[in-house]
Amino acid sequence: MTNPIVKCTVDQCTHYMPGDQCMAAKISIYNEEETGKSEKSKDTQCKSFHHRKTMGDMLGALHNANIGGTVSAAFLDGTQVTPVVECFVNNCKYWHNNNLCNAGNIDVSGANAAKTPDTDCSTFEEGK
Ligand code: SF4
Ligand code: SF4
Repeated sequence: MTNPIVKCTVDQCTHYMPGDQCMAAKISIYNEEETGKSEKSKDTQCKSFHHRKTMGDMLGALHNANIGGTVSAAFLDGTQVTPVVECFVNNCKYWHNNNLCNAGNIDVSGANAAKTPDTDCSTFEEGK
Protein backbone atom coordinates (compact mmCIF):
# COMPACT_ATOMS: atom_id res chain seq x y z
CA MET A 1 0.00 0.00 0.00
CA THR A 2 1.21 3.46 -0.83
CA ASN A 3 1.50 5.78 2.15
CA PRO A 4 3.71 8.82 2.65
CA ILE A 5 5.73 9.63 5.73
CA VAL A 6 4.04 12.59 7.40
CA LYS A 7 6.05 15.45 8.78
CA CYS A 8 3.87 17.97 10.57
CA THR A 9 4.73 21.32 12.14
CA VAL A 10 1.25 22.07 13.51
CA ASP A 11 2.24 22.12 17.16
CA GLN A 12 -1.21 23.37 18.20
CA CYS A 13 -2.72 19.98 17.35
CA THR A 14 -3.38 17.29 19.98
CA HIS A 15 -1.76 14.71 17.69
CA TYR A 16 1.48 16.66 17.29
CA MET A 17 4.59 15.28 18.93
CA PRO A 18 8.03 16.89 19.14
CA GLY A 19 10.19 15.93 16.20
CA ASP A 20 7.40 17.08 13.85
CA GLN A 21 5.64 13.76 14.14
CA CYS A 22 1.92 13.04 13.96
CA MET A 23 0.69 10.49 16.47
CA ALA A 24 -2.78 10.03 14.95
CA ALA A 25 -3.49 6.54 13.63
CA LYS A 26 -4.97 8.04 10.46
CA ILE A 27 -5.31 11.50 8.95
CA SER A 28 -7.64 12.81 6.24
CA ILE A 29 -6.66 15.58 3.84
CA TYR A 30 -9.56 17.55 2.33
CA ASN A 31 -10.19 20.33 -0.13
CA GLU A 32 -11.31 23.75 0.97
CA GLU A 33 -14.91 23.36 2.07
CA GLU A 34 -16.54 26.32 0.27
CA THR A 35 -15.27 25.57 -3.22
CA GLY A 36 -14.73 21.82 -2.80
CA LYS A 37 -11.47 22.02 -4.70
CA SER A 38 -7.88 23.11 -4.29
CA GLU A 39 -5.73 25.25 -6.54
CA LYS A 40 -2.89 25.76 -4.10
CA SER A 41 -1.72 24.11 -0.92
CA LYS A 42 -3.46 26.81 1.19
CA ASP A 43 -6.77 25.37 -0.02
CA THR A 44 -6.06 21.93 1.47
CA GLN A 45 -6.54 21.01 5.11
CA CYS A 46 -5.84 18.25 7.59
CA LYS A 47 -9.32 17.28 8.83
CA SER A 48 -7.80 15.32 11.68
CA PHE A 49 -6.50 18.52 13.29
CA HIS A 50 -7.83 18.92 16.80
CA HIS A 51 -6.88 22.05 18.67
CA ARG A 52 -4.99 21.40 21.84
CA LYS A 53 -6.50 23.81 24.32
CA THR A 54 -5.33 22.34 27.57
CA MET A 55 -2.63 20.10 28.87
CA GLY A 56 -5.41 17.65 29.75
CA ASP A 57 -6.28 17.47 26.06
CA MET A 58 -2.73 16.64 25.24
CA LEU A 59 -2.59 13.91 27.86
CA GLY A 60 -5.88 12.58 26.54
CA ALA A 61 -4.45 12.37 23.05
CA LEU A 62 -1.41 10.58 24.36
CA HIS A 63 -3.66 8.15 26.14
CA ASN A 64 -5.69 7.55 22.98
CA ALA A 65 -2.55 7.06 20.95
CA ASN A 66 -1.89 4.14 23.25
CA ILE A 67 1.83 4.55 23.43
CA GLY A 68 3.08 1.05 23.86
CA GLY A 69 6.14 -0.86 22.88
CA THR A 70 6.08 -0.06 19.19
CA VAL A 71 5.90 3.69 19.50
CA SER A 72 8.37 3.90 22.36
CA ALA A 73 10.78 1.76 20.41
CA ALA A 74 10.30 4.04 17.41
CA PHE A 75 11.28 7.04 19.53
CA LEU A 76 14.31 5.27 20.84
CA ASP A 77 15.68 4.21 17.49
CA GLY A 78 14.72 7.47 15.74
CA THR A 79 12.18 5.90 13.38
CA GLN A 80 9.51 8.31 12.18
CA VAL A 81 6.03 7.48 13.49
CA THR A 82 3.51 8.14 10.76
CA PRO A 83 -0.26 7.87 10.31
CA VAL A 84 -2.19 6.28 7.48
CA VAL A 85 -3.05 9.06 5.02
CA GLU A 86 -6.39 9.31 3.27
CA CYS A 87 -6.71 12.17 0.79
CA PHE A 88 -9.68 13.63 -1.09
CA VAL A 89 -7.71 16.23 -3.07
CA ASN A 90 -7.95 14.33 -6.33
CA ASN A 91 -6.44 17.00 -8.56
CA CYS A 92 -3.10 16.75 -6.75
CA LYS A 93 -0.37 15.14 -8.80
CA TYR A 94 0.33 12.71 -5.95
CA TRP A 95 -3.26 11.59 -5.60
CA HIS A 96 -3.88 7.93 -6.30
CA ASN A 97 -7.07 5.89 -6.74
CA ASN A 98 -8.96 4.97 -3.57
CA ASN A 99 -7.93 8.23 -1.88
CA LEU A 100 -4.32 7.26 -1.47
CA CYS A 101 -1.32 9.58 -1.66
CA ASN A 102 1.73 8.27 -3.47
CA ALA A 103 4.20 10.99 -2.44
CA GLY A 104 7.14 9.60 -0.46
CA ASN A 105 6.74 12.27 2.23
CA ILE A 106 4.23 15.00 2.92
CA ASP A 107 4.56 18.15 4.98
CA VAL A 108 1.54 19.33 6.93
CA SER A 109 1.81 22.92 8.14
CA GLY A 110 -0.19 25.72 9.71
CA ALA A 111 1.56 28.16 12.04
CA ASN A 112 -0.59 29.00 15.10
CA ALA A 113 -3.47 26.97 13.69
CA ALA A 114 -6.70 27.44 15.64
CA LYS A 115 -9.06 25.60 13.33
CA THR A 116 -8.93 22.97 10.62
CA PRO A 117 -8.78 25.31 7.57
CA ASP A 118 -5.62 26.86 9.06
CA THR A 119 -3.77 23.63 8.25
CA ASP A 120 -2.40 22.72 4.83
CA CYS A 121 -0.78 19.87 2.99
CA SER A 122 2.24 21.86 1.78
CA THR A 123 3.20 19.07 -0.59
CA PHE A 124 0.08 19.59 -2.74
CA GLU A 125 0.88 20.29 -6.37
CA GLU A 126 -1.84 20.74 -8.92
CA GLY A 127 -1.36 18.20 -11.63
CA LYS A 128 -4.42 16.23 -12.65
S1 SF4 B 1 -2.49 18.66 12.01
FE1 SF4 B 1 -2.92 16.67 11.08
S2 SF4 B 1 -0.90 15.85 10.50
FE2 SF4 B 1 -0.57 17.49 11.99
S3 SF4 B 1 -0.45 16.49 13.99
FE3 SF4 B 1 -2.58 17.15 13.67
S4 SF4 B 1 -3.62 15.35 12.80
FE4 SF4 B 1 -1.40 15.06 12.55
S1 SF4 C 1 0.50 15.47 -1.45
FE1 SF4 C 1 -1.41 15.68 -2.58
S2 SF4 C 1 -2.29 13.59 -2.62
FE2 SF4 C 1 -0.75 13.68 -0.99
S3 SF4 C 1 -1.90 14.17 0.89
FE3 SF4 C 1 -1.11 16.10 0.02
S4 SF4 C 1 -2.79 16.89 -1.26
FE4 SF4 C 1 -3.18 14.70 -0.88
